[in-house]
Amino acid sequence: MIRSVRDLDIEGKKVFIRCDFNVPLDEFNNITDDRRVRSAVQTIRYCLDHNCSIILASHLGRPKGAVDEKYSLAPVQMRLKRLLDKEIILALDVVGKDAQEKAQNLQNGEILLLENLRFCKGETANDEEFAKTLADMAEVYINDAFGVCHRAHASVEAITRFFSEKTSAAGFLLQKEVQFSKNLLRRPTRPFVAVVGGSKVSGKLQALVNLLPRVDKLLIGGGMAFTFLKAQGLDIGNSLVEDDLLDEANRVMEEAKKQGVKVYLPVDVVAAQTCSQDATIKFVTVQEIPKGWMGLDIGPATSRLFREALADAQTILWNGPMGVFEIEKFSKGSFKLSHVIAEAHATTVVGGGDTADVVARAGDADEMTFISTGGGASLELIEGKELPGVKPLTNADSENE
Ligand code: AMP
Repeated sequence: MIRSVRDLDIEGKKVFIRCDFNVPLDEFNNITDDRRVRSAVQTIRYCLDHNCSIILASHLGRPKGAVDEKYSLAPVQMRLKRLLDKEIILALDVVGKDAQEKAQNLQNGEILLLENLRFCKGETANDEEFAKTLADMAEVYINDAFGVCHRAHASVEAITRFFSEKTSAAGFLLQKEVQFSKNLLRRPTRPFVAVVGGSKVSGKLQALVNLLPRVDKLLIGGGMAFTFLKAQGLDIGNSLVEDDLLDEANRVMEEAKKQGVKVYLPVDVVAAQTCSQDATIKFVTVQEIPKGWMGLDIGPATSRLFREALADAQTILWNGPMGVFEIEKFSKGSFKLSHVIAEAHATTVVGGGDTADVVARAGDADEMTFISTGGGASLELIEGKELPGVKPLTNADSENE
């Protein structure tokens, strides 16, 4: 079982908390959705209540190993300050002179936020030296960044090598995510239906293969559906496609058939020539996507089909939007699906930032059983994989509890 921060003696100690503050920002650097910041508060408050000095670290966006003002954690500092009603010290760098000095001088009850971890190349390279510099700042390591636990990055994986079982554990958010996914995996009430969407097949193909033995039905929508439709010989116009994965897509379909999993693909789409709000749209069957047009949302017939397929589901896992939901014209399919899932008499699990965003915008967030903060990480957990960020915090003797 994963160790909890509650299992450690943290009283009065200097604690390093790896958070997931990878929040969406608008063009003026305002946080447009602060759920990830809010989710971190419980663990931070727990540490404050135990008189700790707290060092917070996170990545934000993909700054490619160099300082880029655009990805500064300053907006997160402001939001945290408001949420905790407390001063948050922002370091000017990650492991440089300023961060080191501020970490060293940090008093009990104070909070220091390091700059974006990905300003340093060592983070994504899982560099041990970089990890050690981070580790040396604190006495206790807490990981509460579920969204990055499927990545072996320095602040998630390598850093754990410098802490023992007594000084490293999961925060409340990570603990909740892991326990929920593991329970879902162990005892899914059937029928278990997975609904997947989004743009990238490449990122999710292996997940689909691994999900097959666990699910009864697989519903595929969003941009990724077109790779499957093309693989079946359909002309998909200019729709999103990953041509190098056509064979793989067919392999998934064959494997599903072998395992008795029913796969549902869109039967119609909302098509347009450009992906914009002012584009002219057409509702067409997947057999009749005109040349030069692309499918940008599932159509009404598909919404009905998916609703039917979900009608008897007892467990539903949803990961990835059904269309380009960011543009109103192409958002209906995702919103309708959100309502259907919210109303289902089933255990409903939503994974991934985009999907969580759809559910929130549709007003369905309170109706879902569980909304995971990590898309990739939650899929990998449900597939049954051991996450590099979770493994070092798991006590081997109680793994099968
Ligand atoms: P992912 O990161 O793979 O979960 O993909 C999420 C993104 O997929 C969202 O930003 C959607 O706008 C995009 N998306 C969903 N459906 C389509 C589609 N039919 N064509 C292009 N992009 C899509």
